[in-house]
Amino acid sequence: MSEILLKNVALWPGYGPSVQPDMSILLSKGKVSRIAPSSVIEAPEGARVVDGAGATAIPGLSDIHVHLTTNSDMRQVVDNATYRALVPGTEKLLHGVRNGLKALAAGFTTLRVMGHRDSGDVELSAMIDRGLIPGPRLSVAPWVVSMTGGRGDLFYPAAWPRQALDTADGIEECRKVVRLQRKLGADFIKFTASAGTLSAGDKVHWPNYTVDEMKVIVSEAHDYDMRVAAHAHSTEGIRRVLAAGVDTVEHGSFIDDACIEIMLKQGTWLVPTLSISDFTIANGEKSGARPEGIAKMKIARDQRRDNIRKAMQAGVKIAMGTDSSGNLCPFGQHAREIELYVETGLSPQAALETATIGAAAALGREDVSGRLQEGAIADVVLVNGNPLDDIYVLRREGGIRAVFKDGRDVTRPWPAL
Ligand SMILES: [Zn+2]
Repeated sequence: MSEILLKNVALWPGYGPSVQPDMSILLSKGKVSRIAPSSVIEAPEGARVVDGAGATAIPGLSDIHVHLTTNSDMRQVVDNATYRALVPGTEKLLHGVRNGLKALAAGFTTLRVMGHRDSGDVELSAMIDRGLIPGPRLSVAPWVVSMTGGRGDLFYPAAWPRQALDTADGIEECRKVVRLQRKLGADFIKFTASAGTLSAGDKVHWPNYTVDEMKVIVSEAHDYDMRVAAHAHSTEGIRRVLAAGVDTVEHGSFIDDACIEIMLKQGTWLVPTLSISDFTIANGEKSGARPEGIAKMKIARDQRRDNIRKAMQAGVKIAMGTDSSGNLCPFGQHAREIELYVETGLSPQAALETATIGAAAALGREDVSGRLQEGAIADVVLVNGNPLDDIYVLRREGGIRAVFKDGRDVTRPWPAL
């Protein structure tokens, strides 16, 4: 792998208010080997030189809530329940490859993946790590742990046959599903602690699981160094997951002041996922969502924005996650979430940090992502302009000039997506 010198860039290291002008960045052997003013750095023999004039170099971005193996074909919309139940795992995996490439081209080099069972999320992650397939660095939960009749279960038609431990109930099954997922290569555990908006037959204020069941999921996962993400919309669901000691609260729609206080005290991360309702409501039934799901989403969205704003203003730690999911919330559009945080009241700097140092800390992977500095993994995005001044540049046509992951140029990993 030849060295790459990114010359004459402005540099934003992934945190802080300022950008350093006229810098050069040397990428060697997968790492950022040197950062210095352009006037003092020479291209090593044989290095490829990329002129970055007019661009800002930022660290590769992270989206820590995606469903990778969902429909990647925006021209052929498939209803969510039909996709989950009827599309074979092999086809889901191929969609996952495409979705990963779309994320990469958009500057997202790290994804935390809520997997589909038997759809190859874990195997794809391993092949990407070995450099055999281009794609973002993945952190995977093999499938969503759900109680019988819980949110993860209700995505499937009621009479649909389920495998052992597709659902887990009671202390012993909750313990066993975590151990089984660990054996199959889980990086973290995801469980559902409340009803959802798009699952059929449940109400958004319902909790899922007792605190005792959640506690065994959390302690079992923590024993094996896995973090725990909990899907929780309802106030009661959020209250319970905080009592159980989860690491990240996903969605958090109906978070109240008492929960905000506990999150601040426990240092729990909030992953707001504002994008999915933004896209789904904008696209209506064209997104593949059912009318009743869209209606539930609309009610939840308006209250959610106000509640999330309160949590942000109180200083709850925010990590960026979109809930990217097939036709509902398309891959490649991840930066919409950052825009929504700005529209909800965060500064552009704080909003960007949720996808750099924030996401890396929530993942517990500060060693691989979030900072653009000497010695870091060489995940670098060249943005045409300065996202601190213009947050919308990240999603604008031509806004992403180049993407490097592990020191390789992955700007156009696949010509047409
Ligand atoms: Zn999700």
